[in-house]
Amino acid sequence: MGNPPSQHSDHTWHGLTAQQALEEQRSSASGLSQEEAEQRLQRYGANRLPPPQRRGPLLRLLYQFHNVLLYMMLVAALITALLGHWVDTSVILAAVLINVIIGFIQEGKAENALDAIRSMLSPHAMVLRGGERHEIDAERLVPGDIVLLVSGDKVPADLRLVSVKNLLVEEAALTGESVPVEKSVAHCNADAALGDRRCMAYSGTLVSSGQASGVVVASGADTELGRIGAMLQQVQALSTPLLRQIEQFSRWLAVIILILALATFILGILWHGQNPGEMFMMVVALTASAIPEGLPAIMTVILALGVQRMAGHNAIVRRLPAVETLGSVTVICSDKTGTLTRNEMTVQRVVSASRILDVSGVGYAPEGAFHQDGKLLEPDTELLEIARAAQLCNDARLQQDAAGHWQLHGDPTEGALLTLALKSGLDIQSLRTQLPRSDAIPFESEHRFMATLHHDHTGHGLVYLKGAPERVLEMCASQRSADGANKVLDADYWRRQATDLAARGLRLLALASKTAPTEQRNLSFDDVESGLTLLALVGIIDPPREEAIAAVAECQRAGIRVKMITGDHAETARAIGAQLGIGVGLPAMTGAELELLDDRRLREVLPGVEVFARASPEHKLRLVQAMQDSGEVVAMTGDGVNDAPALKRADVGVAMGNKGTEAAKEAAEVVLADDNFATIAGAVREGRAIYDNLKKFILFSLPTNGGQSLIVIFAILFQVVLPLTPAQVLWINMVTSSTLGLALAFEPSERGLMQRAPRAPNEPLLSGFFVWRVVMVSVLIAGAGIGLFLWELKLGNSLESARTIAVNAVVMCEIFYLFNSRSIFGSVLNREALLGNRAVLVTIAICLVLQLLFTYAPPLQGVFGSVGLSLEEWLRVLLAGLTLFAVAELEKWVVRRFGLHAQAA
Ligand code: ATP
Repeated sequence: MGNPPSQHSDHTWHGLTAQQALEEQRSSASGLSQEEAEQRLQRYGANRLPPPQRRGPLLRLLYQFHNVLLYMMLVAALITALLGHWVDTSVILAAVLINVIIGFIQEGKAENALDAIRSMLSPHAMVLRGGERHEIDAERLVPGDIVLLVSGDKVPADLRLVSVKNLLVEEAALTGESVPVEKSVAHCNADAALGDRRCMAYSGTLVSSGQASGVVVASGADTELGRIGAMLQQVQALSTPLLRQIEQFSRWLAVIILILALATFILGILWHGQNPGEMFMMVVALTASAIPEGLPAIMTVILALGVQRMAGHNAIVRRLPAVETLGSVTVICSDKTGTLTRNEMTVQRVVSASRILDVSGVGYAPEGAFHQDGKLLEPDTELLEIARAAQLCNDARLQQDAAGHWQLHGDPTEGALLTLALKSGLDIQSLRTQLPRSDAIPFESEHRFMATLHHDHTGHGLVYLKGAPERVLEMCASQRSADGANKVLDADYWRRQATDLAARGLRLLALASKTAPTEQRNLSFDDVESGLTLLALVGIIDPPREEAIAAVAECQRAGIRVKMITGDHAETARAIGAQLGIGVGLPAMTGAELELLDDRRLREVLPGVEVFARASPEHKLRLVQAMQDSGEVVAMTGDGVNDAPALKRADVGVAMGNKGTEAAKEAAEVVLADDNFATIAGAVREGRAIYDNLKKFILFSLPTNGGQSLIVIFAILFQVVLPLTPAQVLWINMVTSSTLGLALAFEPSERGLMQRAPRAPNEPLLSGFFVWRVVMVSVLIAGAGIGLFLWELKLGNSLESARTIAVNAVVMCEIFYLFNSRSIFGSVLNREALLGNRAVLVTIAICLVLQLLFTYAPPLQGVFGSVGLSLEEWLRVLLAGLTLFAVAELEKWVVRRFGLHAQAA
């Protein structure tokens, strides 16, 4: 193919006609060949924007120092150095360094988790190559490719439009203008502004309605989007309201501690006449003990690990605050088809004006036959006419793979119709050449039908239409009888048949046709509004997913109501709902009925309805609003471009990863990689578990700081020597928070998690109960440390051994308390709770080794002033830990016994 086309010659593709653009790109209306596309991919590179500039590793490491808490520690290091306390200086510096390294590693981990999620969200594009439609990764698009757009697509590269049909494109990503722009193929002025180039569709913009095809004129960084350097934000920064709350909390805490420390320092010198140097060391110890250095960083890791686990289970969280909202969801509104059902459709019944036929066989394999009243029936002209309509008014493709399995490309409803046509013996290829398609009105949930216009070789025009029976009946004036003649429509007969099919849980479609004038080449809504002839009704089975049945039950046990909102027939929806345990014994409400209710009345009836049928995206939006007005926290699923408002409005918008449009995914907080309802239930469970783990970690780590601060405050108030030196305090903080606490990030969800009611959305994290628990454990830890310290001194032992005991007592208490912390209210006195989390056991083992080194290794003894302990002393330490464990379990028992946890949670 001669010279390579230019990617962006002079940036005036909009000034060329479509034909010129195609020629310039050395392409044609049927697209590039596969080989040419591969070659161009080599030449131009992948169609992706360069990733945003990341900070290099060194800068990222340095950036870790940028933290108020670390600044405070660095100042402390400087002053201790000036005072000549070299040991303390080096321990403080070591602690700073360890914090920085941990922060660095954790940030990397969190970023990796998000990168993995980003790559799961990569979009696809429909292209014509060698005249055939292919769905490819949008990254593989090359200049010259012909891209087909439909409503809901995100434009994957810069396109010069070649054909358009009612195309409206929302270009906010590029121009900031959120009102959709109407597109056409006519070329514009070469100097037209970006927003006025009607014949172009730019990468990153969204198709809000209509269809089009266009030739790629720029890909990757050469697109307009690439040139303005905009990076489409797929996943938000790693933070949530809770994390921000905690970060703020620790910042305030730091300020308060600083003020307190300063006050203590001044008072101590002025009032008690203490030596400033000694007093300063006490203040450093207090500051170091009270600041929860590791808290925000480890909470980020808990969140990142949780989100990664969710992605592993097919729930991709696009906006991280959703993780917290998921845990408080009270209602899940789900689509039916594909989410609650398998979306493997098979036509089971065909009803014509004269007879009812059963169709055997399951799946897309064209194996099966037609039976009337149990007797085999050979396909006759009447059946073949129905099959022809089913086949021609159809965009799906069936293919047999190497292993002989039938693979469907396209909409499963249409796949079922193709299989029906094949079972009747139609030759699909020859039919397509006999009656080529001239135009089509694609299916949309709003109008619930699809129509196609065909012409045979002699020029006779024929319209085929299929859609929801109520809708199609309105368009029909006659019906086809067995002898091929058209008779007056018997609407009552068809309605009865439709209700009967629907009551069996079958999905309904009506097929109709009409002749069209030879010269008519375009199909508009007016052409099909009336005068059609009804051919048949088909009933399609789409069985519920087994796992969805279990997931619905699980949600209901967890106090979450499940509502089904579907475009399907009311009777079908009710029958399928009953199989899933949704809306059993309750009436189903249709979209039309919903429209008759005002907002107040709607809120009144909502609790009594679980199945909404023949509902459109606008109805979804109204339902979300009404439920939220009644105080519900709503998760809502959606896939179409028109579902975007409802998804945005819902507390947790859930988009389908497979059949969902890009528009829906952009609007959603969570994307389901497998379109499965069970995944939503799993995400709710995971959301609850993550929130639980965050709470558990806070409850675990704050008492460490609290206990140590109390010890230091005690020493200052009662003017005794410090039971813990600043260096020892930092040691404890590092060992307990960064080692032990991290184990809670790997905590599996609690068994009764999905038997609890949803968390109140505005529940404060640090509730009265939390404060109580933190204070109680802090006092116990401080009591153990001070008690053993004083006891040791009383026995006449050295200050060093008393301090070593105090350090070991605090750490031992934390080790035991880690077991308590595995459940906030539940007892941990069982095998599973004690041994169930490997991370807990591993970190405890590490912690014990560290403590032995602290106590016995000469270099550490040198730094920390520790000395070896006797067996009896160790036993005392162990006893302190056991006491804390017992008291904490006793407290939980009391809380459970008197049902206080319901209020406390
Ligand atoms: P859900 O909203 O739960 O996914 P659904 O798939 O049944 O449910 P829609 O896709 O809006 O909802 O379909 C509504 C109705 O439109 C169907 O019951 C069927 O009668 C008709 N229909 C569905 N797909 C097509 C299609 N490809 N062509 C023509 N009519 C269709």
